[in-house]
Amino acid sequence: MTDPLSLEERRTSLEAIAKEIRTCKQCPLYSGRTQAVPGTGRADADIMFIGEGPGYHEDQQGLPFVGASGKYLGELLALIGLTRNDVFITNVIKCRPPGNRDPLPTEIDTCVPAYLNRQIEIIRPKIIATLGRFSMALFFPANARISKIHGQPKREGGRVYYPLFHPAAVLRNLNLRPAMEEDFRRMLTLLKEVEKAGSDVLDEPPPKQLSLF
Ligand code: URA
Repeated sequence: MTDPLSLEERRTSLEAIAKEIRTCKQCPLYSGRTQAVPGTGRADADIMFIGEGPGYHEDQQGLPFVGASGKYLGELLALIGLTRNDVFITNVIKCRPPGNRDPLPTEIDTCVPAYLNRQIEIIRPKIIATLGRFSMALFFPANARISKIHGQPKREGGRVYYPLFHPAAVLRNLNLRPAMEEDFRRMLTLLKEVEKAGSDVLDEPPPKQLSLF
């Protein structure tokens, strides 16, 4: 088992990655961005949320989930007694696609190994909560459907992968709200379970990125 980094080392490493992200030109999205959005939160967070990519407000502010879906994410966290500062929040891709279109496979294939996988290795979260299908597709089989598997934890290598609806999808379809809130409550139970088991997170690298298409 490799020694986990100290909190200070994690902060420094994450900030170094954030610096790279802010000046990244590895895919064409850099040319349309106002600001890249590396992610925010605890460097040693137990729970890491991974969304899809920055929208308009995130691009303006350089912070993830600060628009309407971010406000809802904040409410969901409050429901289980957490704040944004207790977790780490980031996205699959770090720059806003034009007109908020879906990320392209080439953008994901470039950004995930360059940045997201390294963030995961540094933070070593006990739970990776995916928000929406693009983030889910990194850790679950290509044929997985979010409507079927949301709220069903997958345990692998001492870590829990936990698929959730995207908050924006819930805001568009309020019928999903009770399920989303139930999934959040279950996440707290999961965290307690993982802590009790004292599972040693994690020596393994993050799962290889599965291609979406
Ligand atoms: N939607 C996302 O997927 N990520 C954000 O940061 C904001 C909205």
